[in-house]
Amino acid sequence: MPVRAKLVAANWKMNGSQSENERWLATFRSAPPHCETVVCPPFVYLAQVAQGLERTQAGIGAQNLCLQVAGAWTGEVAGEMLIDLGAQWVIVGHSERRAAYGETDEIVAAKAERAIAAGLRPIVCIGETLEQREGGRTQQVVMAQLDAILRRCSVAQLANGALAYEPVWAIGTGRTATPQQAQQVHATIRARLAGADQASAAATRVLYGGSVKPGNAAELFSQPDIDGGLIGGASLVANDFLAICAAAR
Ligand code: PEP
Repeated sequence: MPVRAKLVAANWKMNGSQSENERWLATFRSAPPHCETVVCPPFVYLAQVAQGLERTQAGIGAQNLCLQVAGAWTGEVAGEMLIDLGAQWVIVGHSERRAAYGETDEIVAAKAERAIAAGLRPIVCIGETLEQREGGRTQQVVMAQLDAILRRCSVAQLANGALAYEPVWAIGTGRTATPQQAQQVHATIRARLAGADQASAAATRVLYGGSVKPGNAAELFSQPDIDGGLIGGASLVANDFLAICAAAR
């Protein structure tokens, strides 16, 4: 079975300013992590962050992309533009976009496909709400989200990016899934991938996201099917993000 290198991605969401970002980047550069990392700032700071991380191994990612390639789509940003600004990665299907901007399983799958076509490595987010978990529907919901993605993207293509299991009830709430709860879902995700392509499934990183902090990262990342994390709130503090990366070694 191939060894999957851990991957830790920072999702800054709609936070930051040029001066705050400079301070974050300076701290990051002073102690570059030893695991693979991706930093995903808001669109408008991509060029600044790409420049600030130029001499590091860190990857650059956006938080969303448009389904279209170019043209009359006011306010939207195409995958090709993200590449032009120095991004290699893009987060797709974050639960905040699913909930607030009506991104359905089909739209998320189409965005993952579009990202791959543009030459980006997608980090595709899936996960259930609290109501769905309490209703015993976690497996059904997560598999439906995953199956929609697999109808448009091969497992080998996903292996070049990553999947992120993010239980919605754990995002920004301080309520983390236990390592066992997360591992259980991660194993199910990998089994589904393996049903389509065993070799690529073994190589696909499945990240966990949801209130990962320096204090809980090591135990989560020690689970056999948790291959790193997608970090929201804690990634805004450079030293906390670095501590989480250290836990991934
Ligand atoms: C996220 O937004 O992807 C996330 C995991 O957020 P947080 O770490 O703040 O829960």
